Amino acid sequence: MDIRRRPPRPPPQRKTDHNAQSGRSSSLGAVDDRSPSPTPRASDALPLPLYLTNAVFFTLFFSVAYYLLHRWRDKIRNSTPLHVVTLSEIAAIVSLIASFIYLLGFFGIDFVQSFISRASHEAWDLDDPHHQNFLVDDRTPRIAPSSSKSPDPEPVIQSLSSEEDDEIIKSVVDCTTPSYLLESRLGDCKRAASIRREALQRTTGRSLQGLPLEGFDYESILGQCCEMPVGYVQIPVGIAGPLLLDGFEYWVPMATTEGCLVASTNRGCKAIHASGGADSTLLRDAMTRAPVVRFGSAKRASDLKFFLEDPLNFDTLSVVFNRSSRFARLQGIHCGMAGKNLYIRFSCSTGDAMGMNMVSKGVQNVLDFLQSDFPDMDVIGISGNFCSDKKPAAINWIEGRGKSVVCEAIIKEEVVKKVLKTNVAALVELNVLKNLAGSAVAGALGGYNAHASNIVSAVFIATGQDPAQNVESSNCITMMEAVNDGKDLHVSVTMPSIEVGTVGGGTQLASQSACLNLLGVKGANKESPGSNSRLLATIVAGAVLAGELSLLSAIAAGQLVKSHMKYNRSSKDVTKVAHLEEK
Ligand code: ADP
Repeated sequence: MDIRRRPPRPPPQRKTDHNAQSGRSSSLGAVDDRSPSPTPRASDALPLPLYLTNAVFFTLFFSVAYYLLHRWRDKIRNSTPLHVVTLSEIAAIVSLIASFIYLLGFFGIDFVQSFISRASHEAWDLDDPHHQNFLVDDRTPRIAPSSSKSPDPEPVIQSLSSEEDDEIIKSVVDCTTPSYLLESRLGDCKRAASIRREALQRTTGRSLQGLPLEGFDYESILGQCCEMPVGYVQIPVGIAGPLLLDGFEYWVPMATTEGCLVASTNRGCKAIHASGGADSTLLRDAMTRAPVVRFGSAKRASDLKFFLEDPLNFDTLSVVFNRSSRFARLQGIHCGMAGKNLYIRFSCSTGDAMGMNMVSKGVQNVLDFLQSDFPDMDVIGISGNFCSDKKPAAINWIEGRGKSVVCEAIIKEEVVKKVLKTNVAALVELNVLKNLAGSAVAGALGGYNAHASNIVSAVFIATGQDPAQNVESSNCITMMEAVNDGKDLHVSVTMPSIEVGTVGGGTQLASQSACLNLLGVKGANKESPGSNSRLLATIVAGAVLAGELSLLSAIAAGQLVKSHMKYNRSSKDVTKVAHLEEK
């Protein structure tokens, strides 16, 4: 196939007018040392080299000046009126003015700039020890901020592209400009991040070397993903797969810094694939939000509970609720009580969005609606923790939240032996004693598994999910049973509260979006809204199934500590690895 590529565009550069006018390469032309292409200068447009142009204007200026002075002396001697000028004198005057303007533009502005620059550098570079120290931390050598030979790949002071930026940085440091207003005041998110970062370094005296600034689209996170950015953290993304799930192959992106995790999940995928694949079923799709409302008596709170849970009122309430979005569909209302306080757990499907915003809007609609029939209802909070978001809670484990998925596979006897290096009986016994009995002894809540959260977190980070929702999304019970006369292994993971979306939040960012695209679930599904996020939930469960298989096999075979010591201490060769550290 003939693939045509557009040449990469050079990154946009800011340059100030005076830089362009001057055309000097010493201090003014070098706007940004890190730019891959030289900064264009006004002098580039001249037909002659700069030094020749300067020579021409110098010569012109002095020769016409000499000529005019000569003519002036002659006129005085001959008593000719000065205002009577010939054509050649007019031409000389015009040339004098033109060459004067050129020379003033060239030397005058530079003089003013260098004067200002020297004054401001003297103000904080040399005299102020606080500013002298701002680049220094325990690991970096002391670097004078004004040095142009800094070995720092992302030098701090060199990143300042203008005196204007330097002034803004100073105003952030001395708190006259609030850091959070930089984006709106400058209208340039990258510049705002750069200035904030620089101000932070000066304020703390600590270097941010190692935290990249370049290579990120700061506009894409504005008002949605992160406030007051100063850079971004890099997390490697590994690929496990193919995961054969419901007849399709998926290559699962996992963002992690834990050695062995991807390799182990990959081994689980291999075992599933060699056994004919896994099957998943989506049991439920309903995000929840539960406000807390208070009444004057438990009796009144009970009145509202009965009203909300009466099936006859459901249609009216869903019409009100569903106004929040064309994708929100109320599924149910379930109330909890504590005396006079009522906790109303609304659950609704949310299309391809994870849905917290959507469901919250719907809840607000219903609360507003209820206020007319229950004027004594005091809304204490839109979230009363009966939801329950980002906290371990039995309600999510029992009732579900987001997507509830069960995923299963039958792993053949020879695959258990050859790929997983163990046997069915050992796996079944380990699963009972560790994941079921062991977790019961520990008083686990939803933690009847070996390491579901390892896989959930890695896939969540790669695909732009909310990592804090790993808490409930990792609820999982892993079951193992010998089948087919005890030869093969039936393994399943049941995960009642996987909270994922393919639109909104971090899913639209470039890297995360690429990972969603790899799985074929990027963005909104136009034909069948909600299919993308539901598919993503089943892939998460499938990857957890692979991870459970592999880790339990490693423990059953007694390989865990050996491989941990080998690959988490010196990760040179992961080709033979099959298991990982358990958290
Ligand atoms: P969340 O509710 O997960 O926080 P947002 O409300 O930020 O997500 O994002 C959902 C937005 O995406 C809504 O404005 C919704 O109208 C829009 N949207 C577009 N297509 C879809 C889809 N297929 N499913 C869900 N939301 C969609």
